[in-house]
Amino acid sequence: MWLINQEHQLPIFWQEGDAYSLFYAPGYLVVAAQTLAAGLWQDLQQPEPHTPTARRLHQWAETAVRARQAALTTPFAPVCLTLYLHTQCNLGCPYCYADPSPRPTPRLEVTAVYAAARLVAENCCQQQRPFTLVCHGGGEPTLNQLHLAQVLAGVQAVAAAAGLSLFRYIATNGVMPTAKAYWLAQQFDLVGLSCDGPAAIQSRQRPLVNGQGSTPYVERTARILHEHQTPLHVRVTITPFSVRQQVEIAEYICRRLQPEEIHVEPVYHAGRAQTAVLPDTNQFVDHFLQAQQVAATYGARWLTSGSRLQEIHGPYCHLFRDVLHLVPGGAATACFKTGASPQAGQQGLQIGQMGDGRFSLNRPRITALRQQLHPLPPSCRDCFNQYHCARDCPDSCPLEDGETAVPSFRCQVQKKLAQAQLTQMGVALWAKARVQDGIAEGRVMTEIMRL
Ligand code: SF4
Ligand code: SF4
Repeated sequence: MWLINQEHQLPIFWQEGDAYSLFYAPGYLVVAAQTLAAGLWQDLQQPEPHTPTARRLHQWAETAVRARQAALTTPFAPVCLTLYLHTQCNLGCPYCYADPSPRPTPRLEVTAVYAAARLVAENCCQQQRPFTLVCHGGGEPTLNQLHLAQVLAGVQAVAAAAGLSLFRYIATNGVMPTAKAYWLAQQFDLVGLSCDGPAAIQSRQRPLVNGQGSTPYVERTARILHEHQTPLHVRVTITPFSVRQQVEIAEYICRRLQPEEIHVEPVYHAGRAQTAVLPDTNQFVDHFLQAQQVAATYGARWLTSGSRLQEIHGPYCHLFRDVLHLVPGGAATACFKTGASPQAGQQGLQIGQMGDGRFSLNRPRITALRQQLHPLPPSCRDCFNQYHCARDCPDSCPLEDGETAVPSFRCQVQKKLAQAQLTQMGVALWAKARVQDGIAEGRVMTEIMRL
């Protein structure tokens, strides 16, 4: 159990163990021998602590508080353009949150893309940051190659005209003809390939729309990407069916697909999986940690996005992440779950649109949504993980459901994974502390990032 420093309302936490205590401020961990722990805790209650260790914990905590507040007050100035090109897909995954169509659907208008790209490029120039382009789901973004090529060419032209370097990412299911896979490998700087594991799992969870397996296509696309030396990440969705097979999934993906990173997400309670049963919490965490070790033996990182101790972050809302996300119909949406413009409008999530040849942002709407989405639920206010947690997003949302029900599945998973990471780091620090003065410290986060 973690105690929070209530005295100065700073996020500093204390957890007692048998031989030593852990002290944590977002991004910074201290281990202290039990004989020193009470004194350190007392020092942490002072407005100006005496010991350098307590002062550092204060500084990290204050920086985290400022970073979180800045996410609310810094004007929204996106430097990443995310595109849902359409909502058509060639797979029939039973858990898909986007619930796409197997038939052609309206495409995102290229004029809106180019106008939005110009807006993003202005921000990138002002902030001296590269331009990031993300072509993502809602459907399979590679299905209409000509449309994708037009989008890429237009955004590349905008970035080049502004003298910006462009980073191009695409998330794909990998089911495509050989020639298209070669083309893709040349067009993108990083490819995120969705694969849920060996054929027995993949065929059940990610079949083609005609019910056949997709494994041979995914493996072939991965091979082509490697041939071209295009960096590859893999996205895995874990369901109750696959939750206890994470070690086998890690083995398979590392051997056959050989990605640098594997992003593991428990199935979203949304779209086609709106009423689906979620995996068991303990099973998810136990098997996740085992699979993480297996992946590490192959040099691959096994990660999940809900709890990232390396970053200060909250839910996935674009409003806090410098992301301008366009959907078919040309609207910009605040939420990644939105598939098309009418939906964004109906749900009050539309934050920008084309007008008079320019893409403009709806600032009052952005401010109002930020104020609704930013506050920490009361149930999270004493939690050591509150600066690193996506909370219950996307299973439930403050805009739809009011206060998050805690402890939900995601809350429990995120807390256990964060605890496991801190415990592991604490063990390593304790080995150092014993040969020093009974105290050792370490950074969990290398830099403070915006939410
Ligand atoms: S579901 Fe809600 S909390 Fe999650 S990204 Fe969308 S708007 Fe944000
Ligand atoms: S959702 Fe759970 S783990 Fe996340 S901050 Fe809230 S209480 Fe902590």
